[in-house]
Formats: sequence, structure tokens, C-alpha cells
Amino acid sequence: MRVFNFSAGPAVLPEAVLRRAADEMLDWHGSGMSVMEMSHRGKEFTSIVHSAESNFRQLLGIPANYKVLFLQGGAMAMNALIPMNLLCSHRSADYVNTGIWSSKSIDEAKKYCHVNVAASSEDKSFTYVPPQSTWKTDPQAAYLHFCSNETIGGVEYHWLPEVGDVPLVVDMSSNILSCVIDVSKYSVIYGGAQKNIGPAGLTFVIVRDDMLDRALPITPSVFHWKEQAEQGSMVNTPPTYGIYIAGLVFEWLQQQGGVAVMEKKNLEKASRLYDYLDSTDFYSSPVNKNDRSRMNIPFHLHDTRLNDAFLEGAQERGLLQLKGHRSVGGMRASIYNAMPVEGVIALINYLRDFEKNHA
Ligand SMILES: *Cc1c(COP(=O)(O)O)cnc(C)c1O
Repeated sequence: MRVFNFSAGPAVLPEAVLRRAADEMLDWHGSGMSVMEMSHRGKEFTSIVHSAESNFRQLLGIPANYKVLFLQGGAMAMNALIPMNLLCSHRSADYVNTGIWSSKSIDEAKKYCHVNVAASSEDKSFTYVPPQSTWKTDPQAAYLHFCSNETIGGVEYHWLPEVGDVPLVVDMSSNILSCVIDVSKYSVIYGGAQKNIGPAGLTFVIVRDDMLDRALPITPSVFHWKEQAEQGSMVNTPPTYGIYIAGLVFEWLQQQGGVAVMEKKNLEKASRLYDYLDSTDFYSSPVNKNDRSRMNIPFHLHDTRLNDAFLEGAQERGLLQLKGHRSVGGMRASIYNAMPVEGVIALINYLRDFEKNHA
């Protein structure tokens, strides 16, 4: 029996994608091989990676002057690789701190350059996005880095930072493909796949061509964006099976009607859940209303002694992985693209019943 899986990542995948992968497991399209067994340079895998990239480009409207890289290392490796690939002769970069993931990016970048924290919401336990009017940016910065959705804190930008000529770099691990974006406003968009795309082990980088000449000479070849761009992400063996599953997810998204349709569904799912949480004092949502994530929804039980009973009861109903991150406590429901509205409705019904039985 399939459950409703609210994990923050690795996270739920569309059932149709898993079924198709199962069907194709032993023999991909008459090749007599599993995708896992194919040479990454053979014609079968070449066609898989080309169609994955082309569907990803279509879904996000990625302009022709951007490269798409499929790498390894996860979003956390990028915390080092962004300064390595972008610093050039600059000595300083701007970062906005909105939570645990931005903090990790900042700490890692400090190994490579001076970090100017242009704004931070640490004063209120990372429960909001600092308004742009309060940012103290440096016009000489190599780039400005921000995290568009803090997966742990549940804080999301619903607006685009304006940074003039400074390249805008974004960690979009947990809300890529959840809403329509204008790629041309960014210099680099990156993230791990295991939240809203596919299996762990695949990292995507969308990078504008003019950002490819800025790497420090010490940058490792397998993480050197220009070398990877020139060799179609095949300086080394890419995460082939992850790319294949990502490609199936991209096809599934197109069958759903594309990113604009997903955005509507995500808005509906998140509004239903927030509306319920706001309707009762039994539960509360810690995040500033305007900055609430549509993907990751942390919430607290008013009486924290009930936390264990809440999680046990949820498990009995097939509602899994609702425990909040250890740094925030409480609960968290991650409702990515692949979470059907039925899962959110089942969760709300459970919230209501649990409250009735324990109020
Ligand atoms: C999960 C996550 C990361 C870390 O990803 P890894 O693939 O584990 O390195 C970084 N940033 C955000 C926003 C995330 O959600």
C-alpha cells in the first residue's frame, strides 16, 4: 500500500513515474538493458539525457544563452563551488540569511571569500524574509546569493530580489518547478534533485553563458562549470539513473499541463492547509503570513506533550514523515509537486480528528 509521504527530502515521487521506471527496469525500450547498466556515452543514454534537458528547458523556459548541467555533490557541494566558479578577481560576495540552508551556504563561502551578509532574519528565528529595503548590498560583490525556499524553516520568497548588475545566484533545491519563474533574471539557479525533481545524487545547475569564465584556477575539473558545459556534463560519469528518473518526472509535469498548472495546484494545496492551521488555536504556524512556503509547512501543536501521540496517530492513517526538523521542532508537512491534493485533504482530516479527541 502506498502512503502519503510528507518527507522534506528525499521526497515523494509521482506514482506514475515509479510505475514506468518499474516497467522499464529490466529492458529499456528494447535495448535489453536497464538504464543503470548503460554506457553514459552510448546512443540510448544520450537520447535519455537530451530529452531530459530539453523537457527541463521547456518547463522552465530556459533561454538559449543558459547551460543546463547535471552534476553530483548535492546543493551543499555547490556552497563551495559557487565561490570557486564565480569569484574571478572579486574578493567579496553578498549573502542573504533566511535560515539553516542560507547559513550553511554562508559558512562554506567564508572559506573562499569575504562574505557580506546583506540581510538576515535571525533576529526572529528565521520566520520571515527581510524586505529588500533593509538589505545592505555591496555593488562590487561577485554575486548575491539567496535561498528561494528554506526547506526547514518553511520561509519562501514570493518576490524577486532586484540587484542591478550584480549576478543573482539562487539555491532553488526545494521549490524549483513549483511555480513559474523568469530564468533570465538569474545568473545561476541550482539545487539538489531530491526535493521536487527526483532521486538524491543528482544536482542541477542552470548557468548563464557569461558566468562561465570566472572560475578560480583551483576549481576541480568535475565541478568546473565551463568544462562540464563544454562536455555536456560528461567530464566524468554523471548520475545516469537520477537523470533518467528526472526526465520521467519532467515528462509527467508536462502531462499535468506544465509549471503554471502545478503552481495553481500548489497554491491550492498550501492554502487549504494554512487556512486550517489558522482556523484553530490547537495548532500554529510560526512563519510570517506573506513569506510562508507552499512546499514545506512547519506547524506546532499548542500542547507539545501531544507530539508523540500525534505522530503515532498519523502513522496509523498512512500519513508519514511529519516530524519537524530537529532544529525547529514540532511538525512539518512537505507538499511538493508529487503530493496529490488528496494527501493534503487526508492530513487536514487527521488534524481535525486529532484536535477533537485531544482538545
Ligand atoms: C536539501 C537542501 C540542501 C542540501 O542538499 P544536499 O543535496 O543534501 O546537499 C540545500 N539547500 C536547500 C534549500 C535544501 O532544501
